[in-house]
Amino acid sequence: MQKNRGILTVVSGFSGAGKGTIMKELLLSYPDRYALSISATTRDPRPYERDGVEYFFKTEEEFRQMIADNELIEYAQYVGHYYGTPRDYVERQLSAGKDVILEIEIQGALKIREACPDAILLFITPPSAAELGRRLFGRGTETEEVIRSRLTRALSEADGVDAYDYLVVNDVVEDCVHEVHGIIQNEHSRMHRNLERIAMLQEELREFVSA
Ligand code: 5GP
Repeated sequence: MQKNRGILTVVSGFSGAGKGTIMKELLLSYPDRYALSISATTRDPRPYERDGVEYFFKTEEEFRQMIADNELIEYAQYVGHYYGTPRDYVERQLSAGKDVILEIEIQGALKIREACPDAILLFITPPSAAELGRRLFGRGTETEEVIRSRLTRALSEADGVDAYDYLVVNDVVEDCVHEVHGIIQNEHSRMHRNLERIAMLQEELREFVSA
C-alpha cells in the first residue's frame, strides 16, 4: 500500500521551555518516525553548536538571498536575528512519509498554519515562570540582557497561544516526550487524513464484488 504522507508538526514554546531537549529525545526514541528540520539563522553559533547540525548559520545577505529565491517556507525575526525554515528538506521528508518537526517561534508558526492548514501546532511551557527563569539563567550561554529580552518576548508570545492546537507542560522530560509522540501519532488516525486510504479500499472492494 502507498505510504501516507508524513504530518508536519510545529513545536513552539518560550525560550527555556526545554523544546530542544524534548525534540532531541523524541528523535533518539523514534529515529525512523521523525525528521527534525534544521533552520537557517543569522544569529551567532553558541559554543557547542555546529553549522548544519543545530542550524545553518548565515550572514544577513545570504539569508535575504534565500528569501528572494523562495527557499524558505516561513521566516521571522526573533530578538534581533532572522530565523527561517528551508522548504526543500521538509517537502522531501513529508513525501517520504516521515513526520517532520519544526521547532520555531510563534510568528513562523502562524505562517505555517496559513500555508499548511494540515499542520499540528504544539505549544510547550515550563511548569512555572520561576522554573523558566532558572533554566534560562542556568544555561549560561547568553548575557543577562539577552535573557531579559527573551523573557520579555515570552510574555508577549503568551498572548498568541490560542492559535495552537495543543499545550504540553514540560515538567519531566520523558513524560513530555511520550505525550508529544502520542499527540502526533493519534493524528494519523484522524479520518480526514485517511480519506485516500478509504477510497482505495472501496476501489478494491468494488473489484472483489464485480469479480
Ligand atoms: P534560539 O536562538 O534559542 O536557538 O532560537 C530562538 C527562537 O527562534 C526559538 O523560539 C526557536 O524556536 C525559533 N526558531 C528557530 N528556528 C526557526 C525558524 O526556522 N523559523 C522561525 N520562525 N523561528 C525559529
